[in-house]
Amino acid sequence: MTHLIVDGHLDLSMNALEWNRDLTRSVEDIREQEKGMSDKPDRMNGTVSLPAMRKGKVGLCVATQIARYVKPGNTLSGWKSPYQAWAMTQGQLAWYRTMEEIGEMVQIRNIEQLEHHLKLWETPSEHLPIGYILSLEGADSIITPAHLERAYSNGLRAIGPAHYGPGTYAQGTEATGGIGVKGRELLKEIEHLGMILDATHLNDEGFWETLDLFHGAVWASHNNCRVFVPHHRQLDDTQIHALIQRHAVIGVALDAWMMVPDWIRGVSTPAGMGVSLEQMILNIDHICQIAGNSKHAAIGSDLDGAFGKEQGPQEVDTIADLQKLPDLLKSRGFKDQDIENIMFGNWVRFLRKTWS
Ligand SMILES: [Zn+2]
Repeated sequence: MTHLIVDGHLDLSMNALEWNRDLTRSVEDIREQEKGMSDKPDRMNGTVSLPAMRKGKVGLCVATQIARYVKPGNTLSGWKSPYQAWAMTQGQLAWYRTMEEIGEMVQIRNIEQLEHHLKLWETPSEHLPIGYILSLEGADSIITPAHLERAYSNGLRAIGPAHYGPGTYAQGTEATGGIGVKGRELLKEIEHLGMILDATHLNDEGFWETLDLFHGAVWASHNNCRVFVPHHRQLDDTQIHALIQRHAVIGVALDAWMMVPDWIRGVSTPAGMGVSLEQMILNIDHICQIAGNSKHAAIGSDLDGAFGKEQGPQEVDTIADLQKLPDLLKSRGFKDQDIENIMFGNWVRFLRKTWS
């Protein structure tokens, strides 16, 4: 049986504009077009396109804008000023808008649009638009609070203050230190606008500070469990517990290095390391065990988030293969209601509660 799938994290516009992928085409076509290219590690290994999402009934997703500002001394890739980073996100927004103009996607900003869209997807077809909730991964591109207001009026509904490395508002994965004055101001503004705070990528110090200071709705769009892969990019059990207390939903991700320990980028292979959807099930199950129910674990695949088949579960050729999850969950003893919760119900319930 196929279920509607809500995916809590996809970098669609990044793929369209930075990877130069025409997501209106099939995954096979996109791979074909990348033959001979070696500028990115995941060339010819992409798994996501809009037709593949329709095939897998991924009718709704949280889709990102993403652009890092790198200060002098930061060796990560990114823009040299927040102005360029802001402009990049506006280009990404323009791509989403273009997808809307041609009927490929539709932006979901409020409860009415959400309900309408869910109704539409009760009868899935290859002509239905993919719904997307606009999110910002890493807040460096927000030049001033006024820019966050502008972003909100353009449909931005979720924001993660941090990404990889040191940020303007929060320290992300691999960076140390808490959130400073600017981070506190940003949290206030996010709360004031009623936006969802994405806890993913906050380092431990920033995570706890943020949970203390922020009183609005929180989710973790793409996060696995530290118990399986000991690195602070993953949530430890006390963090998972704290998120559950805040009624959060946690999207489990499919980036191999977050699924199995000791993954070496560019060296390890999914077959060699035994990377499979089974680890996703383990992560989902772990969150359910801590919660004592199935209301907090969900999918935040991050597929094509700067990695492809070379760094993902072996059974996932395209995003449509997420439809293998219901049977895997069933064979692990999850009941139909639990499976519904995990595939789409938890994100939907979270959005209904936050937006009504
Ligand atoms: Zn990420």
